[in-house]
Amino acid sequence: MGETARVPDFLTPELLDWRERATRLASERLLRLREDVTLDERERRRAVVVASREAGLYGLTQPSEDATPPSALTMLVVREALAAAGCGGLRGVFGDGPGVLAGVGEPLRSSHLVPMLAGELRAGFAFTEPSDAPRPTWARIDGDELVITGQKSYVTGGADADFLTATVEVQGEGPAMVVVDTDRRGVRLLRRFASFDGSHHAAFAFDEVRVPRSYVLGRSGEGRGRALERISEVRRVIAADCTGTAMWVLELLAAHLVTPRPDGRVPGDLERARLRYGDLRVKVYAARSMVYRTARLTDAGHNVVNESMAAKLFASEVANEVVDGAIQLVGGEALVQGHPLEQVMRRLRTLRLAEGESDVLRVNVARGLLDLGQGRV
Ligand SMILES: Cc1cc2nc3c(=O)[nH]c(=O)nc-3n(C[C@H](O)[C@H](O)[C@H](O)COP(=O)(O)OP(=O)(O)OC[C@H]3O[C@@H](n4cnc5c(N)ncnc54)[C@H](O)[C@@H]3O)c2cc1C
Repeated sequence: MGETARVPDFLTPELLDWRERATRLASERLLRLREDVTLDERERRRAVVVASREAGLYGLTQPSEDATPPSALTMLVVREALAAAGCGGLRGVFGDGPGVLAGVGEPLRSSHLVPMLAGELRAGFAFTEPSDAPRPTWARIDGDELVITGQKSYVTGGADADFLTATVEVQGEGPAMVVVDTDRRGVRLLRRFASFDGSHHAAFAFDEVRVPRSYVLGRSGEGRGRALERISEVRRVIAADCTGTAMWVLELLAAHLVTPRPDGRVPGDLERARLRYGDLRVKVYAARSMVYRTARLTDAGHNVVNESMAAKLFASEVANEVVDGAIQLVGGEALVQGHPLEQVMRRLRTLRLAEGESDVLRVNVARGLLDLGQGRV
């Protein structure tokens, strides 16, 4: 019986059905697409979209006709099941979700949100400032326009993006999230680079970029809240990917531990191997308990900023421990390029930094309680 099927999480029949669908899609179609070296990235994504659409998963992150987003628990179950079947972080399964544009009114709804959901426009999230920036990205108000100056870095997919949703400090009004088309005068692509998990990012400069004030999401001053909501959601996405991937690694490791070596010895007969393996299982159990509790709190409408930070931090640290431990137990062959564990290690390693470096999150969780009276244990 698979790892996913064994754990009772008190899921409804509907959620169990989602999990089953995601697991089947991953094992019957997506795994093969992920490993097919004849496909380039674009072809792979297209094939993933077709497979996902046929399985009824494509578009799940987009609001339904009545604008109800899928529950946090549904998304957790689906994402975790995909990752537990070896397809964590695979692009194209759901298509673009609305992100910070969720619920936006005109003109942005027609000009950006609808074409983005239809796959006609691509967006990048521009939050991170380069460490040498003299001042965080800011804007002055000039009549009906904002005039934006500054820099952004590490915008994933930025070089192919048609527009950015950027955090900008608006003079006299406070932080805002602003839509900035990448073909506007004054937007410069400074650098395109890849991180070792294979994802691509871009750095931008904004030199007096003029943007209509109607391109501010919500009102100026609400920017930090909007960005935080989006970041919290992405943190939960990462947490689900991490627990699922950790489950997949645990299963791979278990198979290694029970398989006799050529000399007849079974690695899992050694107590020190059992000790390590047991410890990793305990940690994954704790991480899963956290992410499920956080999803249920989200669906019940609670403020989960601190819990999302805690879940992302813990799940990403545990997943890294699991893959690191698995590599130690499997040995040198796990480090050979192309081995599933070395690939997973590179992907998981980035997740201890993306959407908040672990120590920054620890400090923020402390601040949540000490300065703001927020967060639970
Ligand atoms: C794969 C990947 C994808 C990403 N995608 C995006 C994206 O699409 N859009 C986007 O905007 N960003 C993106 N990022 C950037 C990401 O959000 C940042 O890397 C992350 O927030 C950490 O910021 P940083 O790299 O500046 O490190 P920092 O936060 O500066 O941390 C670096 C080190 O400095 C320490 N530190 C931080 N603050 C202090 C302090 N005040 N005093 C002392 N020490 C401190 C930290 O503990 C850490 O050890 C991505 C990153 C990765 C790895």
